[in-house]
Amino acid sequence: MANQATTILVLLGPPGAGKGTQARMLEEQFGFVQLSTGDMLRAAVAAKTPAGLAGKQAMDSGNLVSDDIVLGILNHRMSQSDTTVGVMLDGFPRTAAQAKVLDDLLASNGRRLSRVINLMVDDAAMVDRVSGRFTCAGCGEGYHDRFKQPSVHGRCDKCSGESFKRRADDNAETVQQRLSEYHAETAPLIRHYDQMGILCKVDAMQPIEEVNQRLNLMIASL
Ligand code: ADP
Ligand code: AMP
Repeated sequence: MANQATTILVLLGPPGAGKGTQARMLEEQFGFVQLSTGDMLRAAVAAKTPAGLAGKQAMDSGNLVSDDIVLGILNHRMSQSDTTVGVMLDGFPRTAAQAKVLDDLLASNGRRLSRVINLMVDDAAMVDRVSGRFTCAGCGEGYHDRFKQPSVHGRCDKCSGESFKRRADDNAETVQQRLSEYHAETAPLIRHYDQMGILCKVDAMQPIEEVNQRLNLMIASL
């Protein structure tokens, strides 16, 4: 999946914590590659691949997609990322079974995770963030109705695109289900990585730039 010098980070946190936002910034700042299982699954749904067709219903209702589908899709993508200086896993692992597969895969290659970054936000902020989220349809840059508007209204800061989109699953009912999946399946991983001594807790209630500064300091110390 990655050469020996590669930094491997996991971005952990509930939907809306800022994983994607920070991953895009760290891509620019460090040349790391963001591997988002959510993005991969949405691409598979759009392309109507077998994995996409099988995962769509769970995604639409805010449930987790089955481990075998997620692992299949991630394996395929990881095999294409072996020359990068760093990899950020965004939204993976999300279950104990996924974490075990990842630990075993890395161990079998004599590797280990560099850090697991736990972006901590409270539940109310998470609902706020997800319900105001939109992205540039051209380049995928993320925005928010209140917290991060394009500097020129209606024009993407990155690519000057004028078309934006919202995710179908960023609605009030689905958000509650995604939050409950997070607490039931994903939050227990925090303890797992804490016990491994690689957990880095970050107060993600702070503004985007401040969270980013904290991550820069952490990465500089690796
Ligand atoms: P995730 O990838 O964890 O689901 P995103 O990075 O897409 O979350 O962020 C969700 C929404 O919250 C986006 O609209 C983003 O612009 C906004 N956001 C991200 N980080 C912060 C922050 N620290 N403060 C305020 N808003 C934020
Ligand atoms: P995200 O873009 O990370 O918010 O993910 C969107 C949706 O994709 C989730 O609500 C799940 O249905 C699915 N998904 C993404 N990553 C995973 C994963 N690692 N395991 C299971 N389902 C996932």
